[in-house]
Amino acid sequence: MLAPGAESDELPSDPVRSFAIAGRDLYPSFLSALRDETGTDVPFDRRGILELVNDAEPSPSPLGGEWIDARALRDLEPELGSFAGAVLHKHDGSVDNFVLFAAMKRRVESRRSITLVRASARSVNTVVARPRVILDDGDVVEGGSLVIATGAWAAQLEGLPRPLPVRPVRGQLLMLEGALSRHVIYGGGGYLVPRRSSSAPDAVERTIVGATMEDAGFINETTPEGLAELTAIARRVSPAATSAHLVSHWAGLRPMTPDRLPILGPDPDVPRLLYACGHGRNGILLAPITGQTIGALAVGAPSPHDLSSFSIERFAEAM
Ligand SMILES: Cc1cc2nc3c(=O)[nH]c(=O)nc-3n(C[C@H](O)[C@H](O)[C@H](O)COP(=O)(O)OP(=O)(O)OC[C@H]3O[C@@H](n4cnc5c(N)ncnc54)[C@H](O)[C@@H]3O)c2cc1C
Repeated sequence: MLAPGAESDELPSDPVRSFAIAGRDLYPSFLSALRDETGTDVPFDRRGILELVNDAEPSPSPLGGEWIDARALRDLEPELGSFAGAVLHKHDGSVDNFVLFAAMKRRVESRRSITLVRASARSVNTVVARPRVILDDGDVVEGGSLVIATGAWAAQLEGLPRPLPVRPVRGQLLMLEGALSRHVIYGGGGYLVPRRSSSAPDAVERTIVGATMEDAGFINETTPEGLAELTAIARRVSPAATSAHLVSHWAGLRPMTPDRLPILGPDPDVPRLLYACGHGRNGILLAPITGQTIGALAVGAPSPHDLSSFSIERFAEAM
């Protein structure tokens, strides 16, 4: 999902909301540049996200949203269960992250200016003029800037100038055969994301059901309890889910900080060390804007966006 509107609870202040919206709105130009370079048309849906409401019309959220009453909701989405209505977050949507990741991988692999090192980093050394990464096999890689972007594992790197408050939060997802909705649906304790395999008329339609939030350390596995929770979410949202065939069930680890916001920007003591981690539930949404921002800083340019809400220094007292 690309859901700053539907996930506005995760965005506590105006600067954070502005950053998330700018991140979402960067997607069209980002995907168009990716298409020009790789030929891949990444499926991207900006039909809006419907946030289901069980009771009365809610008071408006800081990010707005259009109230859709029960009858209009039935017309829009006939397969859904019975709800009082929904808030339509018009500019939210979804992107096919599998196709996106494959295209990004091809782009990186085809660039002559990029040297890919396929090894695990054990530690870093930032007290030298050019920061260094020491790999598991003992090899050393050095560069003008060092970006820490190791997801839920970021805190495990040795040699960082300060502890990184990033921990794994496991999420499980299901893929069901068939489309249960036209829009991304946020409700029933989770969400449903319609997916098409391509834009061809005979494209296979599927639905992703998400997602659990679990403290399971680094155990990245699915569980029967996760399957039951996600099945219940799908059935609460759409009775048609009861007969939908299960295609797959998988898990991933979200990199979560204590305030659920990412850590972005330079280390206060080591300006050549840049943090790009802790994106929690919104790392796909914030991927292009993180790349744009951290890329600018890495080449010595100013950040195009205000990063003050995301500085590592906000955790200084707690650590
Ligand atoms: C179930 C689930 C649903 C989600 N839904 C959404 C959503 O709808 N919208 C959204 O915006 N976000 C969503 N997210 C969140 C999003 O996936 C993450 O925020 C995002 O993947 C974080 O990106 P990252 O690059 O920081 O970390 P990752 O994607 O985890 O990538 C980190 C990479 O670093 C590598 N690495 C780690 N340590 C080392 C090391 N020492 N040396 C070398 N490499 C290393 C890892 O192998 C990995 O490849 C979801 C996450 C989950 C789990």
